Amino acid sequence: MCGIVGYIGTREAFPIIINGLKRLEYRGYDSAGVAISNNGQMGIYKIKGKVSQLEDAVKKTDIMGTIGIGHTRWATHGAPNDINAHPHKSMNGKFVVVHNGIIENYSVLKKRLTARHYTFVSQTDTEVLANLIEYIYLFAKISAEDAVRFALSKVQGAYGIAVICTDEPDKIIAARKSSPLVLGIGVDEYFVASDATPFVEYTNQVVYLDNDTLAVISRNGLSIKTIKNVPVTPEITEINFDFDEIEKGGFPDFMLKEIYEQPHSITDTLRGRVYMQENEINIGGLLDVMPRLMNARRMIIVGCGTSWHAGLLGEYLFEEYARIPVEVEYASEFRYRNPIINSEDVVIAISQSGETADTLAAIQLAKKCGACVLGICNVVGSSIARETHAGVYTHAGPEIGVASTKAFTAQVSVLAMIALMVGRAKYNIKPVQYHQLLNELTDVPKKVEEVLTTADKIKHVAELYKDSPNFIYLGRGCYYPIALEGALKLKEISYIHAEGYPAAEMKHGPIALIDDKMPVVVIAAKDKSYEKIVNNIQEVKARKGIVIAVVTKGDTIISQMADYVLEVPEFETAIGAMITVIPLQLLSYYIAVMRGCNVDQPRNLAKSVTVE
Ligand code: GLU
Repeated sequence: MCGIVGYIGTREAFPIIINGLKRLEYRGYDSAGVAISNNGQMGIYKIKGKVSQLEDAVKKTDIMGTIGIGHTRWATHGAPNDINAHPHKSMNGKFVVVHNGIIENYSVLKKRLTARHYTFVSQTDTEVLANLIEYIYLFAKISAEDAVRFALSKVQGAYGIAVICTDEPDKIIAARKSSPLVLGIGVDEYFVASDATPFVEYTNQVVYLDNDTLAVISRNGLSIKTIKNVPVTPEITEINFDFDEIEKGGFPDFMLKEIYEQPHSITDTLRGRVYMQENEINIGGLLDVMPRLMNARRMIIVGCGTSWHAGLLGEYLFEEYARIPVEVEYASEFRYRNPIINSEDVVIAISQSGETADTLAAIQLAKKCGACVLGICNVVGSSIARETHAGVYTHAGPEIGVASTKAFTAQVSVLAMIALMVGRAKYNIKPVQYHQLLNELTDVPKKVEEVLTTADKIKHVAELYKDSPNFIYLGRGCYYPIALEGALKLKEISYIHAEGYPAAEMKHGPIALIDDKMPVVVIAAKDKSYEKIVNNIQEVKARKGIVIAVVTKGDTIISQMADYVLEVPEFETAIGAMITVIPLQLLSYYIAVMRGCNVDQPRNLAKSVTVE
């Protein structure tokens, strides 16, 4: 979450930074700000609200300068307001800092600085860092770079920072630990940003800054050192960024575009990995770790939010096909529990952004315990991709809508591929069955396409229940994670309270909530527990609940009982089951739009949760 953009070069910095911040809006934020340096004069503008509001406010001034830093803030310390917005200036005005992350020991540092007569204008941890840097700089009379480095050695927590010193105004000092930063290298100009989107039209030469490193960029060049002052040779990567990919492509919102992209994005996930003719799955990134996967004593899948739901479906797939016991954990809980992990375990970390702080911490813990750690993420070059022993990119393309949709189906597709690949390698799956399963997997995109053609019906149901204050989602077996995901989508973007439950658990509690005003969404496509789910629907109907059922096309039994049915094409196994999430994504999307909500940037949420 939050975004950093910095520029140093020959052009006016302000428009580049503002446009860059707009590109980072998808990460979620509550305030925005810029600092532009002009011959040592520093103009700082910051505001609670949108980047466009900042732009309007600053346009009225005459801001000029070819060096600057900008920020979109997602508050962690201190309310979202103008004062707490970044950039933060040190007390004597020597340093200006933008920061993503949390300085965990900020209160101790603040006390020490206060004892040395430092005063603070904001409630942020970031201002403490700005003052710490300045204090060290003035006290030790060292260079700005050394002062930043020394200050960071005193800091606990996570940071991505960009700093300008007014005494040395021709450079930007950038550093990171656990929060992402990427440098862009142009001709006589350099960029620094939380990801490459702010500068892709200027350069495709990037350097992904490693953890615990510090970079200094000036018009004449770039130098990188570790926080311990060891020089690092910059590794330049050429990125191919299809800019059209991050535009809305004719859809009113990114979320709808991303829902509709799924036939395409799932195909991209499978491309070059599933070989129907050879009856084979080949995932290059996993070849080296295949023996560890095949001999895994246990798998632990960690993730947060939607990724955790994908993990629950993964559990189903791994146990079914790879016959490996699986535990699925919230990354945020796992790391604080002193979990028992050993070297025969395989940990799979799932994160769309690849930057989720809790998931990264879980990875570090698992590595320390000797487990083999795989990553499943969408953002190439992200921290998780770099921290894990091996991994698989989902290749779903940039997901801008804060509520995850195409990343979910891509994650499930990757989990299915790994489960099948390992299951086949262990001879759990016979060639003929394997072929059928591969068929089912490669058929998913066209079935998703078919579900998308039923959008009008889903819109109609949305219209009828958009004002309900509560929803219940029920599913059994592999549909339970889908029920959870459907409920999460509704909560996230429409702010309606929704609960996902295993259908059979309903009678142990939630059934008390059911009355004639309660919509109950039941995932009831045909599978081995079909008869049971029919009973669960009866139980809801007996209490006058409103049943909206996701059923297999042509189902005549449930269509007589349910108030509304949303049809999906037939499928055979838990692999095909992922298509049942599509009507639920659309249902929550339409309800949210009808309620006038901002579906792409729902309140209080951030796309990439880079703080604990
Ligand atoms: N902890 C800092 C603050 O609350 C930075 C938050 C962010 O990552 O945007 O201002």
